[in-house]
Amino acid sequence: MIDKFIMFGAPQIEQAEIDEIISAMKSGWIGTGPRVAGFESEFAVYKSVTRNRVAAVNSCTAALHVSMIAAGLKGGDEVITTPLTFCATVNSIIHAGATPVLADIHPDTMNINPAEIEKMITPRTRAIVPVHYAGRSCDMDSIKQLAEKHSLKVIEDCAHAIETEYKGQKAGTIGDYGCFSFYVTKNVMTGEGGMVIAKKEKDIERIKILALHGMSKDAWDRFSDNGFKHYQVVECGFKYNMMDIQAAMGIHQLRRVEANWKRREEIWNRFQEAFEGLPLTRPMEPEPDTRHALHLYTILIDEKTAGFTRDSFLDAMHRKKIGTSVHYLSIPEHPFYRENYGFDPAHFPVARKTGRETASLPLSAKLTDNEVDYIIESVRGIFSGKK
Ligand SMILES: *Cc1c(COP(=O)(O)O)cnc(C)c1O
Repeated sequence: MIDKFIMFGAPQIEQAEIDEIISAMKSGWIGTGPRVAGFESEFAVYKSVTRNRVAAVNSCTAALHVSMIAAGLKGGDEVITTPLTFCATVNSIIHAGATPVLADIHPDTMNINPAEIEKMITPRTRAIVPVHYAGRSCDMDSIKQLAEKHSLKVIEDCAHAIETEYKGQKAGTIGDYGCFSFYVTKNVMTGEGGMVIAKKEKDIERIKILALHGMSKDAWDRFSDNGFKHYQVVECGFKYNMMDIQAAMGIHQLRRVEANWKRREEIWNRFQEAFEGLPLTRPMEPEPDTRHALHLYTILIDEKTAGFTRDSFLDAMHRKKIGTSVHYLSIPEHPFYRENYGFDPAHFPVARKTGRETASLPLSAKLTDNEVDYIIESVRGIFSGKK
């Protein structure tokens, strides 16, 4: 037994970001300022895009929302996305005034299935929102092909996909927009935070305005010592800007992104090896010519093969003081979407089955070798009946 609870998605926090936050506070500038600008620059370098193609915001939900507005979505437009995602993907489509349409996933990759997307395209379809589930890249060639054929925008939900690559291209730079999350449990975290990458610099200019009340000059320009600048409100924007206190964390988190990825790769490989032969389905290995961000390690538990349900597995893990999570109960299982959009879980059978069988194990770079051993022992114990 271990002495303390293993938290799911524990952030890996080091002295560097603690010191940086203190410096930000001592500098007196804690709002949107030089640290946000620095974080944007380093993120652009990491993603191999120019500085003018990125904008930091205060969440991935905000990033998705402003990207969809920049994409020109309006009432009556349809946007196709996956049923196996976090509710924010779908909510941001609705907030942009459009109508979400779901296309079922592929059972092996758990990513949106391009053949299913094609079936859902109508004359009203305007965009596709692929989610790189768990950090595995979607089939972007097929998605781009469909987008070109039907003149659709592609907005990548990269909440799991900071390190993801697809055929030499970095996730978030393949579609028209890429939206990232720095929520506490994500691979790079700022507490709350997000980033947009856009194909066109003009879109980033608009997104920066939309993310700060619709004001035409950002706060840093307004209050810097280059003389007073008046701002003008040019559209009805939102309050989506990132603070320097958040960026202070992000800068150092991003500098460790590769080291943390390597640590998660070790843990992932240990899980893959240790769970071979157990009556569960392990994640498929990353496809050739792609890089998996290894954000989530998910197993599937089929009650008939395992002899117990997914939920009883989660309870058993909890009793062993191991935090787990579910990514995700499929979107049509939630009453809001069923009642307002008529989604029926039975129409998305692969997502429904996956959502009912999936369990995510801790995969934080913060896990010690002892904790990894303990998680492995516990999972093996549960599957061999020693619940
Ligand atoms: C976490 C997450 C989001 C939302 O990110 P926030 O930064 O919390 O707004 C969106 N989509 C997916 C797939 C996520 O996992």
